[in-house]
Amino acid sequence: MKDKAIEKLIKSEIKRQNETINLIPSENFVSQDVLGALGSPLTNKYAEGYPGARYYGGNTYVDDIETVAKARALEVFGLKDVGWAVNVQPYSGSPANLAVYVALIPIGEKIMGLQLDMGGHLTHGHKVSFTSKAWQSVPYVLNKKTESLDYEAIKKWAEKEKPKMIVAGYTAYPKVIDFKKFREIADSCGAYLMVDMSHFAGLVAGGVYPSPFKYADVVTTTAHKTLRGPRAAMIFSSRNSKVAEGNKVEIPKLINRAIFPGLQGGPHVNQIAGIAVAMHEAMQPSFKKYAKQVVLNAGILATELKKHGFRLVGDGTETHLLLVDLTNRRMGGGEASDKLEKNGIIVNKNTIPYDPRPPLDPSGIRLGTPALTTRGMKEKEMKQVAKFLKEVLVDGSDVSKEVKKLCRRFPLSYKN
Ligand SMILES: *Cc1c(COP(=O)(O)O)cnc(C)c1O
Repeated sequence: MKDKAIEKLIKSEIKRQNETINLIPSENFVSQDVLGALGSPLTNKYAEGYPGARYYGGNTYVDDIETVAKARALEVFGLKDVGWAVNVQPYSGSPANLAVYVALIPIGEKIMGLQLDMGGHLTHGHKVSFTSKAWQSVPYVLNKKTESLDYEAIKKWAEKEKPKMIVAGYTAYPKVIDFKKFREIADSCGAYLMVDMSHFAGLVAGGVYPSPFKYADVVTTTAHKTLRGPRAAMIFSSRNSKVAEGNKVEIPKLINRAIFPGLQGGPHVNQIAGIAVAMHEAMQPSFKKYAKQVVLNAGILATELKKHGFRLVGDGTETHLLLVDLTNRRMGGGEASDKLEKNGIIVNKNTIPYDPRPPLDPSGIRLGTPALTTRGMKEKEMKQVAKFLKEVLVDGSDVSKEVKKLCRRFPLSYKN
């Protein structure tokens, strides 16, 4: 690179990624092939429109790339020829969710998602998000005792509020979601069911998390979390939705129009190629093994942390992530995150359900295993990582040397 200033910073970031333990559940490490697609001259191309119907010339190969990406995305989730369409143009997860609402929900109508401080996402109707300015947000909450979804309570709430859209799928929920129950809830008030599987899409692809496609009208996902693809997103929409039939609309058509020309201009063709590559990777037997190991690792991490006296929200995990409540450690999530970062362990502070502390200084930290599992870490290393957390947060020890040592045994393939 001729730009030495930026080259130096990129190299430093690669070194940081290599030498730290990344427990952020929404991050992962892409393959060299995905990087190759992202860093290719595809970034030069304008391709407003869809394959076969573009507003610019020169899209012969881009059309093929987008067509392949879509076919592979449907195949990964077992959706070939079963009445599902996919749009692979959303720039990222947030614009994808916005596009679904724009497509299906009249402005001012109600959207019902999980409250942000309980594990929901900003785009599910939080008050600082545009989604709650254009639409009316009527969020549901978790059961205070079980810290889990209470389907009966959500159903009652939905029957009372009659939202046009119910959103399931979260950013900080360690348990499996019962999509069948959510379908019943949506049907009880005639709402669309949107599943945002951004966090667990890779687990669905790997067969270790229930698939939402049997029940949802629309499924959105980022490509860059457990799915291990580029920063981008996809919207899957059903051609057989009863709700759409009742409303006399076709979801795939409305979604395509909402993405382009409704909200976006030219798609990022390099990202779409990255999606195609990642979907191919997700079809390999090695990806099934990976997804299985991610969940196994999270389970071990949870068990070990409990042994060390940490309290976990919902008492454990069934997925790739866990939430640690630090109240009994007399420490906030921010303080814990800072202490861990000084030792080369990267986590994020997070609210816990019914958090007594303010959102900027919440009671918990959120941990996940997708990134470490990509590096090849298994049960033994998870035990080691849990011990590091205890040594830093309980004993106040410095483990930075041991952290570096562990990272060196599982190097990333990126050149710096
Ligand atoms: C990450 C995430 C998003 C947003 O994705 P961005 O690419 O960061 O915009 C949306 N919904 C859920 C549930 C997520 O976890």
